[in-house]
Amino acid sequence: MLNKLKPDYIFDGVFDITPEFLTSRGIILLMCDLDNTLAPYGGKPPSRELIEWKKSLNDAGITVFIVSNTKKPRAGLFAKQFGVDYIKHAKKPRPENILAAIQACGAAPQTSALVGDQLLTDTLGANKCGCTSILVRPISLNNPLYLLRNLAEKAFLRLARRI
Ligand SMILES: [Mg+2]
Repeated sequence: MLNKLKPDYIFDGVFDITPEFLTSRGIILLMCDLDNTLAPYGGKPPSRELIEWKKSLNDAGITVFIVSNTKKPRAGLFAKQFGVDYIKHAKKPRPENILAAIQACGAAPQTSALVGDQLLTDTLGANKCGCTSILVRPISLNNPLYLLRNLAEKAFLRLARRI
């Protein structure tokens, strides 16, 4: 299980994931976690920079899709403003909904990547499905609970890197 917690790639944030990076690896679908990956927790709409980033991926033939564990309607609202399809309450790291997203987009695990800020949901889920796993730094850890969880995940990451 520990080797499934090892992300294939680690970036500071989603803006470091360029169309060139993805296309050179044959990736045509980028599934994105929402909270703390695309936007901070809360009700903020997608930033102009984020929309530009998405457009650059689309222009390169890459589909962007939100796979979020949130149960809140915000996922749908954000996805609409962002101009992408989405699955909410995805229950990552369970593979079912990640695989459903891949299928809905006409991709395959080998041509898909999933980016998120959490090892135990995003990275683990991606690795279970056999798609490329990309870990990014959480946008904001202003809630003590997120901070604790992040510290625990860093310990897992150190362990996983040793394998
Ligand atoms: Mg997240």
